[in-house]
Amino acid sequence: MSKKFDVVVVGAGPAGYVAAIRCAQLGMKTACVEKWHDDKNDPVYGGTCLNVGCIPSKALLDSSHKYSEAKKDFAIHGISMDKLAIDVPAMIDRKAKIVKQLTQGVKGLFAANKVEGIQGAGKLLKGKKVLVTAADGSTQELEADHIILAAGTEPINFPPPPVDQDVIVDSTGALEFTEVPKRLGVIGAGVIGLELGSVWSRLGSEVTILEATDAFLPAVDTQLAKEAQKVFEKQGLTIKLSSKVTGSKVSTGKTKTVTVSYTDKDGEQEIVFDKLIVAVGRRPCSAGLLSDDCGVQVDQRGFIQVNDQCATAVPGVWAAGDLVRGPMLAHKGMEEGVMVAERIAGKKTQVNYDLVPFVIYTHPELAWVGKTEQQLKDEGVEYNIGTFPFSINGRAMAANESAGLVKLIAHAKTDRILGCHILGPSAADLTQQIAIAMEFSASAEDIGLTMFSHPTLSEAVHEAALAVGGHAIHAVNKRKRN
Ligand code: FAD
Ligand code: NAD
Repeated sequence: MSKKFDVVVVGAGPAGYVAAIRCAQLGMKTACVEKWHDDKNDPVYGGTCLNVGCIPSKALLDSSHKYSEAKKDFAIHGISMDKLAIDVPAMIDRKAKIVKQLTQGVKGLFAANKVEGIQGAGKLLKGKKVLVTAADGSTQELEADHIILAAGTEPINFPPPPVDQDVIVDSTGALEFTEVPKRLGVIGAGVIGLELGSVWSRLGSEVTILEATDAFLPAVDTQLAKEAQKVFEKQGLTIKLSSKVTGSKVSTGKTKTVTVSYTDKDGEQEIVFDKLIVAVGRRPCSAGLLSDDCGVQVDQRGFIQVNDQCATAVPGVWAAGDLVRGPMLAHKGMEEGVMVAERIAGKKTQVNYDLVPFVIYTHPELAWVGKTEQQLKDEGVEYNIGTFPFSINGRAMAANESAGLVKLIAHAKTDRILGCHILGPSAADLTQQIAIAMEFSASAEDIGLTMFSHPTLSEAVHEAALAVGGHAIHAVNKRKRN
């Protein structure tokens, strides 16, 4: 006998738990199936984001930034310290406490909203049924009018020998080092490589990042990517572009090391590390999630095929978050979770996929929303650009945070903002202001006419907007005044 619900959600990451809460808020009897469990076989909610992704990585980024500031930046403010020491286990422990607090928080939200959490691995069967296999091996069948698949992704394991979470780790293992590795290799100069490479570099590792592509961060606006590369290299990251890793070998001695083989412009190369982080992307957890006859289609890479509203080809079956097309970002998944719940309830909610904000949480942060200059060139759109460097922003100078710039791009004829790209302190929050403005179809002039508090970092955004029209006040304008 199947247990009957209005909605069954499979996966309790940001896409799944948000969808479940919103469904329950809208009056639907909702269950959320999650395979992650603790040592008592109780479900652990929050998915990759809360357990091994966004939150723990930011906890370590913040801890390591404080250490790095104390070591490198305090003296310029006239602050000296006799002794500075790192207690890595304490840092890791603090991170674990934050994770626990937030995952327990989701449990509390489920209880408050009457979402039934069910531990187990879910498999979609024909006829909108879900077979759940619990950690203790027991099974049960659930049935619902609507099923939302939100099983997320897992790290891609490359190269052989596979990740052992000791010498060769993935992003999860890189959040658990108990001491600072001396020579740390990273495969992939993507988001994870840069964020986790920065954590351990700040704490003292010699970090070398091997990246297959010729360009650094090819999806980022080229001007900012070039600037960011300079800043990161100055901070101590060695970034080897055009370096495709082909294999690795772990030594057998007492103190293990790993020799990584890669090819670059000069041919075959080898390099030895004490630890290696593999950060070459993530793949969807769709294997084992779908029965052969359930009717849901996956693409060649295993992503579940959905339309712009996250509906699969099977009526009543939806999929959201990292499991489907688009950027792998927690906030994108959360918005999709809300959209699906509201669509099920008959509303016309639609995610605006043109305005997904992106952030790389290095220091300075790199954040953007909308189109890059290259994209607009390729699309033949005429545009004007306004830039403003943090080196001449009073607040950034006061904080000794003067690396980076704001770049705002607006349509040449309508002045509507098409893109905002920021490398700098609090770039994520500054970019978010422009994301809101873009949702309201703001022009660069609208931002220019808005009063900004002084002295703030956001004045750099204001000046960049004024510079689009050629009349920045606190910088020499490259364009003619109008
Ligand atoms: P997930 O969070 O992966 O959740 C899926 C859940 O489904 C998991 O709990 C899994 O156990 C469960 N599951 C899988 N299969 C089944 C099954 N068959 N039955 C039951 N349950 C199942 N994004 C950002 O936006 N900002 C960041 O700063 C950021 N930092 C990151 C840092 C790291 C190190 C990593 C790895 C990722 C980071 N991300 C970040 C990406 C972010 O974590 C993901 O985009 C987000 O977690 C995706 O949410 P999701 O709900 O789609 O999937
Ligand atoms: P990624 O796609 O961002 O980067 C992987 C990099 O590895 C690419 O640059 C690729 O060229 C390189 N690569 C692949 N094979 C290689 C090889 N053989 N040798 C050398 N380089 C190789 O993937 P990621 O960094 O693993 O992150 C996975 C996902 O997690 C991302 O899509 C991202 O959206 C998400 N994430 C987001 C945040 C954030 O929003 N701040 C943080 C962490 C992770």
